[in-house]
Amino acid sequence: MEIQKLMHEIRENAIEKMEKKSPEDLAASWSGEDLLYSGIGNAIFVVLPTSGCAWALSGSGGCTMCSYVADSPLVDVGADELVDIFKKRMARHEIRENTTVKIFVSGSFLNEDEVPKEARDTILGILRDEENVKEVVVESRPEYVTEEVLRDCSEALGNKLFEIGMGLETSNNHTRKYKINKGFTCEDFEAAVATIKSMQPKHNVHAKAYLFVKPILTSERDAIDEAVESARYAEGIGASRVSFCPATIHKGTLMETLWKQGAYQPPWIWSVVEILKQVRSSVKIPVIMDTAAFGTRRGPYNCKKCNSRLKKLIIQSNLQQNIPSELEEFECDCKVKWAADVEFSDLTHSTTNLSRMK
Ligand code: SF4
Ligand SMILES: [Zn+2]
Repeated sequence: MEIQKLMHEIRENAIEKMEKKSPEDLAASWSGEDLLYSGIGNAIFVVLPTSGCAWALSGSGGCTMCSYVADSPLVDVGADELVDIFKKRMARHEIRENTTVKIFVSGSFLNEDEVPKEARDTILGILRDEENVKEVVVESRPEYVTEEVLRDCSEALGNKLFEIGMGLETSNNHTRKYKINKGFTCEDFEAAVATIKSMQPKHNVHAKAYLFVKPILTSERDAIDEAVESARYAEGIGASRVSFCPATIHKGTLMETLWKQGAYQPPWIWSVVEILKQVRSSVKIPVIMDTAAFGTRRGPYNCKKCNSRLKKLIIQSNLQQNIPSELEEFECDCKVKWAADVEFSDLTHSTTNLSRMK
């Protein structure tokens, strides 16, 4: 497939240019207010450097928007070292009442080639013993979600709430295959969700769908429609939550190549607001909108006057799971430009010829 060849080349190139860092230097952590299954609480986020996403390192080259592999040490990180890094990171944060711990690795937490079982079970065991930790969230591709792995994790965690976030990205199989290069289908995702659901209620396990807003070669209009449609689909197949990731341009990705050529722009924040409005009124499960790079040059953007206010209102919407009245009524001069972009969505964005990119 052309896109895989291209991704593989871009990935190889990015890996060559990568500045080599030690696992410890690549680790990160932060904390903040968050929405838990039980209501508003605290979240501790821990980034653990692992050997790198198996999909990105395969001949496929990985997903068109993802640079996780560039944030990994690309060497096997031993179980003891991973556990040690995790402990050091957790020690930096106060574990307040009602805390969720979110662990991000450079790929799939449930792939034992990336996170050795020994490290996985020890980390979950540490969290089992922390009384204030009420839930643990990890990320994985669906192919690593098996009954055996879920049972192991759930037992190691003493049956605390365990959420597996999987990057469905979109409910559109064509987009996922040709614009994202994800390497699995809706049917694969549905099978993983079904496995998770089959373990309930004995095991306290839940599925979260990550959805990507505005893949490459997608117009502003289609990005909105597909995002809304995908959230409805995720709810319909049994996901407990949805988390939207509006596009940000990461280094060493096909998305960055297209962006540099003027053939791609991340979504408007107005589009994100529109998605939230439609989803809040039609989807009953909790929906979170990631606002990480809002208002930056490489992230979702409106104009200098409204970026940060809208970001704050979207965070408020995440915590309250509604549309705050200020967000409902919010207006800014830049909105007419967005409306024109949606109406006359530039179709060159959806027809850019990949062969030109070589
Ligand atoms: S998005 Fe996930 S599956 Fe795709 S390359 Fe990145 S880490 Fe791997
Ligand atoms: Zn504005």
